[in-house]
Amino acid sequence: PLSEICTEHNETLIIFCRDCKLPVCTECVRTTHKEHEWIQLQKAGQLMRKKLAQHRKDMVKTHLPNFMACLEKARIAKETVQRQRKEKMEEIVAQRDEIISAVTGLSQVMLDSCNEDLKINDGIITQMENDVAELETVASKLQESTLSCASDTEAIQMEIRLSSILQKTVPVDVAFNTKIYFIPGEIDIDQLENMLG
Ligand SMILES: [Zn+2]
Ligand SMILES: [Zn+2]
Repeated sequence: PLSEICTEHNETLIIFCRDCKLPVCTECVRTTHKEHEWIQLQKAGQLMRKKLAQHRKDMVKTHLPNFMACLEKARIAKETVQRQRKEKMEEIVAQRDEIISAVTGLSQVMLDSCNEDLKINDGIITQMENDVAELETVASKLQESTLSCASDTEAIQMEIRLSSILQKTVPVDVAFNTKIYFIPGEIDIDQLENMLG
């Protein structure tokens, strides 16, 4: 806030000190600003007005358009990032759904496979229980005493039956499936899909 009167000397401000960029009075020029470069305040005002007009022109012609262009670029960049974020999110959701569906399918496959193994195992146990029961029956019937009392025909029939039993009860090869369905860590969708068929 510049007053028209020097607050120090109470004289009109008619000089402009270029070094201090201040309006000063004639007394100021004689004392404080003695060694400084100065011009008439009115002339300084005219020069400043010219500069001001030029700067305003520069601002409107160059600075403002530059800033507007920059703002537009920033807005476009923001929209691009927002669009990319949306696409990424959709991609992630789709992948998540794919993984859930693959893991669900895989669980069913593993469960089915376990149930199948159990069924086979049950079948083997039942068959072996029957075989053991039959062997025990035959063994008790074929005591030494029974054999010595049997006729030739009976002995032949017994031998035929026994040899057939001995062939039948050759121990069953009980080998269970031990496939590795799933390795924890990275989930490869393609691999999962291949495993699920
Ligand atoms: Zn003064
Ligand atoms: Zn000065």
